[in-house]
Amino acid sequence: MTDDSTAENATDDGTGSADPDAEPVTDGSGVDAETLADRVADGELRLYELEDHADAETAARARRLAVERDSGVSLSATGDYTFPAESADSNVENLVGAAQIPMGVAGPVTVHGDTADGEFYLPIATTEGALVASVNRGCSAISAAGGATVRITKRGMTRAPVFSVADVAEGAEVAEWVQENEARLAAAAEETTRFGELQEVTPYVVGDSVFLRFSYHTGDANGMNMATIATRAAAEVVEDETPASLVALSGNLCVDKKPAAINAVEGRGHSVTADVTIPRETVEERLGTTPEAVAEVNTRKNLVGSAKAGSLGFNAQAANVVAGVFLATGQDEAHVVEGSNCITTVEAREDALYASVSLASLQVGTVGGGTDLATQSEALELVGFAGGGDPPGSNADAFAEVVAAGALAGELSLLSALASRHLSSAHEELGR
Ligand code: NAP
Repeated sequence: MTDDSTAENATDDGTGSADPDAEPVTDGSGVDAETLADRVADGELRLYELEDHADAETAARARRLAVERDSGVSLSATGDYTFPAESADSNVENLVGAAQIPMGVAGPVTVHGDTADGEFYLPIATTEGALVASVNRGCSAISAAGGATVRITKRGMTRAPVFSVADVAEGAEVAEWVQENEARLAAAAEETTRFGELQEVTPYVVGDSVFLRFSYHTGDANGMNMATIATRAAAEVVEDETPASLVALSGNLCVDKKPAAINAVEGRGHSVTADVTIPRETVEERLGTTPEAVAEVNTRKNLVGSAKAGSLGFNAQAANVVAGVFLATGQDEAHVVEGSNCITTVEAREDALYASVSLASLQVGTVGGGTDLATQSEALELVGFAGGGDPPGSNADAFAEVVAAGALAGELSLLSALASRHLSSAHEELGR
C-alpha cells in the first residue's frame, strides 16, 4: 500500500526523509532511526523488534518513519510528545507517539468525603465541547450549597477464573472446599503482592463449570494486574487440592470491561455514593431551573426511560465525567464500562433539591497503570492524590470520592439544562 511519492513527503520530527539535512538521531551506540527504518522496510526487522536494537526514543522514531513510509501518512503531530519514550514501556507496545486529547479543568468543587475533604479540581480530557462547562456549572452549584457528601461503601477488585469439573456434584464439592479453605487461598494469593489482600471468594457452579469470584483490597492501585497475578497463585492451590481444572484465569464473571448486572449489584473497584442538598435559590440562580423540574426530568428520563430501555445505567452522563477524568489521569479507559455504572436520584424537598449519584463499580488507582506518565501524574497531582497514600489505599479512596462528586456535578448540570430546555443551545454555542 506504499505510495512512494507520498512516502517521501512524509515528515517526522527532524529525522524524516523530507529533510535530507537533518542530523540522524541515534541512541549513542551509532544506530540511527533512518537505518532502523530501512531495515524494517527490507524485512530484516519487525516493528516490534526495534527496542532490541536502540533506545526507546530512537526505536519510536524509527517505527514512525517506517510506518510513515509504508502508509504515506505523516505522523509529525503524533511524534511531538513530551514524555520520555521509555516511561511508556509498560503501557504500550509499538510506540509511535501520543494521541493528544485536549484537557480542561472543572471546579474546584467542595467535597466532604471520608478521605477527600476540601476543594478539588477535576481535570477532564475530552473532545466534547460543552462538557467541561457543564461539569463546571454543576461544581459551582454543589460548592454554593456547601459541598457534596461522599462515602465509599465497598471496595474490591475482582477476578473470577473458570474451572472445569466432572459434574454438578463435583462442582458443589469444589465450591465447599473453597469456602472452607479461603485462608489457604488468601495466603497463596497474598504471597504475590505487598498491597493486595484477599477479602472473599464467591463460588458459582454452573453445570460442569465452577467460577470463583475473588475480590481483593488493592491499596492505591486499580489492582487489575495485581488481582490477576494473585488469583493465578490461588488457582494453583485449587487445582492441587481439588479435582477442578483451570480453564481460564478470567471466566467473565469478574466482570472486566463488559456491561454486567453483577458489577452493578455486587460492585467492583470502589462503590461510591455522593449527594448534595441545594437550596431553591441556588438552583434557580446557578442552574436556571427549579427543584421540581429537575426531579421530573430525572424520574422520567433517568429512571423510567432507562428502565424502558433495559439500561444498566440510570443516569444522564456519568460516563462523560468518568471517561474524561480517566483519560486525564491515566486510568484504564476501558474501565469506563463499569465506572459509569451509576444510579442518579433527585427529589424536590421543601425548599431545596436533593440529588445523589451511586457509582457501583468505579475502578481507579493513583499508582500503577498509566498514572505515572507525565501529564497523567500532573493531573492526579492537580486533584491532590498522586502516588501511594498513607495509609495505603487512602489516595485511591480520596480520588474515587472526588470523581463521584464530579459525576454528581455532571448529572445536576445536564438534568438542569434539560429541565430548562437549554441543552441544544449550549451545544450550539460551545460545541460547534
Ligand atoms: P500495576 O501497575 O500492574 O501494579 C501496581 C503496582 O503498584 C504493584 O506492583 C504494587 O505493588 C505497586 N504499589 C506501590 N505502592 C502501592 C500502593 N500504595 N497501593 C497499591 N499498590 C502499590 O497495576 P494494577 O493496578 O495492578 O493493574 C492496573 C493495570 O492493569 C492497568 O494498566 C490496566 O490497564 C491493566 N489491566 C490488566 C488486566 C489483566 O487481566 N491483567 C485487565 C485489565 C486491565 P505489589 O506488586 O507489591 O502489590
